[in-house]
Amino acid sequence: MKTLSILGSTGSIGTNALDVIARDEAEFSVAGLAGHSNIELLRKQIERFRPKAAAVADEEKAAALVDMLGSSSRTSVLFGEEGYRELAALKDVDMVISAMSGAAGLLPTMAAVEAGSDVALANKETMVMAGDLVLEKARSRGVRILPVDSEHSAIFQCLEGHPRRGVRKLVLTASGGPFFRRDAADLEAVTPREALRHPNWRMGSKITIDSATMMNKGLEIIEAMHLFSMDVDLIDVVIHPESIVHSMVVYRDGSVLAQMGIPDMRIPIAYAISYPERMDLALPELDLSAAGALTFLSPDYEKFPCMRIAGEAARRGGTAPAVLNAANEIAVEAFLAERLRFTDIPVIAEETLRALERGGTFSMKAVLAADRWARDHAKKRVDTMQKAGPPRTKESGPAPARESNNNKDSGRKIQ
Ligand code: NDP
Ligand code: MG
Repeated sequence: MKTLSILGSTGSIGTNALDVIARDEAEFSVAGLAGHSNIELLRKQIERFRPKAAAVADEEKAAALVDMLGSSSRTSVLFGEEGYRELAALKDVDMVISAMSGAAGLLPTMAAVEAGSDVALANKETMVMAGDLVLEKARSRGVRILPVDSEHSAIFQCLEGHPRRGVRKLVLTASGGPFFRRDAADLEAVTPREALRHPNWRMGSKITIDSATMMNKGLEIIEAMHLFSMDVDLIDVVIHPESIVHSMVVYRDGSVLAQMGIPDMRIPIAYAISYPERMDLALPELDLSAAGALTFLSPDYEKFPCMRIAGEAARRGGTAPAVLNAANEIAVEAFLAERLRFTDIPVIAEETLRALERGGTFSMKAVLAADRWARDHAKKRVDTMQKAGPPRTKESGPAPARESNNNKDSGRKIQ
């Protein structure tokens, strides 16, 4: 039997993971569940899976959860950053599913690795911010990091059983998001509601906006660079609107191995937690004749500059990817709060990245300091942009013109 904990159990990946676990309770048991603010859902999960411990955002939520669970509950309730780290490091846990959203996932994931648990990694921010540090710690603790992100799970599967020297490059597929076919000129006015309507995947709001700006693919390039020790220039992106081919590996002899499946996150989650076994998920089978034509197109790096910006952060290395990630999180938050235009998200990310000075030694402390600095910098920039005029949306009509992102490099392709 495998004992698992889930960081971010109340989210999209977390609830899918519990759905997978519930399909084989003879094989899996749950030791810890961490949510954040949705304590009503967490209560239901605790009552259903009876973990040893649970964790929430703060003391107030912890007290409310304890109340809701009643005196007969055997689940101890932790809270705050320390509580999350404690939950991630529980004894006798075989694997921690890392599925919090954003930079908050980094320290608990590192705590799980330090405690010697394998990690099923959905929280790509962990790799983006501190891939080298987390992988180095995993090596020294003999811990496995198994990808949950569908593209990385696909590449992981396509690499299995093949000597690495035969690999020429990796190809990440991208759905293209909801605005793939929109004119560049229309993107300025898109609303959060439109951007949250992803064509193929139901995910948390942060990653859904990242899919619309294609920053998600940028972050995934950095994630793949670390997980598969691959030069960033050997990671290509291809738009594949049907989301059936989840990614590919190109070998030296010209062979291309691809992994396919219906777009359902339970498949990569199940593979990560049951590796190397395959679970019977009883999902609808992929019917290629019903799927019709599969299309593959080049990304538009001018319309969606986030992939280029992420490539620059990856090449720069050090704390640059952490800065990119933090600035993007602030920009996405501001866009969702209708304080920023959709097209200003890459502007904030790029400007913050360019304001970063050369760093010293790369360490967890430096990553956390860079994350704080970038948030602060990006927030100030959002404020000045907002003062220049409210974001223009279809509902509110045109806003005054603002300075544009005058970047000569835009449109360069990452190859
Ligand atoms: P959701 O927004 O659906 O869920 C996020 C989870 O993290 C919730 O449990 C939430 O708790 C918790 N959370 C939010 N903020 C904090 C915080 N500050 N501290 C601790 N916990 C927090 O996100 P997703 O499930 O979509 O994504 C989770 C991660 O997986 C992300 O890194 C994403 O990039 C990655 N991923 C997701 C995919 C998907 O299909 N959804 C695909 C590939 C990767 P609560 O709801 O209780 O507030
Ligand atoms: Mg993905």
